[in-house]
Amino acid sequence: MTASCGICDGTTRITHRATVLGRHEATYRMCDACAYWFVDEPHWLDEAYAEAVAAVDTGVVQRNLHLYPRLASVLVRLFGPTGVYVDYGAGYGLLVRLLRDVGLDVYWQDAHCQNLFARGFEWDGSRRGAAAAVTAVEVMEHVTDPLAFVDACLRETGAHSLVFTQHLHDLSADPSWWYLAPETGQHISFYAPRTMRVLAERLGMTYHGAGTLHLLTKRNFRQGALSRSVRLHRLSYPLLRCRLRSRVMPDHRLLAHRTCSTG
Ligand SMILES: [Zn+2]
Repeated sequence: MTASCGICDGTTRITHRATVLGRHEATYRMCDACAYWFVDEPHWLDEAYAEAVAAVDTGVVQRNLHLYPRLASVLVRLFGPTGVYVDYGAGYGLLVRLLRDVGLDVYWQDAHCQNLFARGFEWDGSRRGAAAAVTAVEVMEHVTDPLAFVDACLRETGAHSLVFTQHLHDLSADPSWWYLAPETGQHISFYAPRTMRVLAERLGMTYHGAGTLHLLTKRNFRQGALSRSVRLHRLSYPLLRCRLRSRVMPDHRLLAHRTCSTG
């Protein structure tokens, strides 16, 4: 049986097979039309997520420290300093804590991982009104159905935009590309710029890319708005640190008060 593309329904072809988690055979397929590259029927995901953040992910701290000044600058420039933001697939919550430390009102959602750094700031739905934007860092390569994932991010938060990180593939279907990470069994979806544009089209959104940072949005931003925000972050980040008040102490007082009133 030939699996069709989960994004555009196009025909797909097998690029290679590999052993994941040291014992399951994975079949990698690529769409002929939109270049969505995916693992066909990954039946081992429960096993792969027994430990949500794979032990081999040595880049987790470095990635978050590199990202948060850029992401804070992008969010403030495109969506404003006072909006509510939700980080999907937040993992341990390190990025949420870093962005709250800057002064942004960020919450988290993650069905798979126990949050360590931002407990008390889980997203609890509509009580805070619509979110200004959703963020998703190192998440899109984990999802089995990208259309449904982006749709859920927007529907569950009322947001019109998703800002996310992703390494795009170069169409060469190189089985040795490091991002495939077959040893973890968790990376199952890979995208080219063309895939992103088709994904956006299917959801009535527009796509903007800036290196490994991407934006899918229903709002009208000028082409280049995202890459300009990323490029200017060295200027804008120190300014927004002066302009915004860190949430370190307010969050501490809020959580201490909650602990007292429930204890
Ligand atoms: Zn496709």
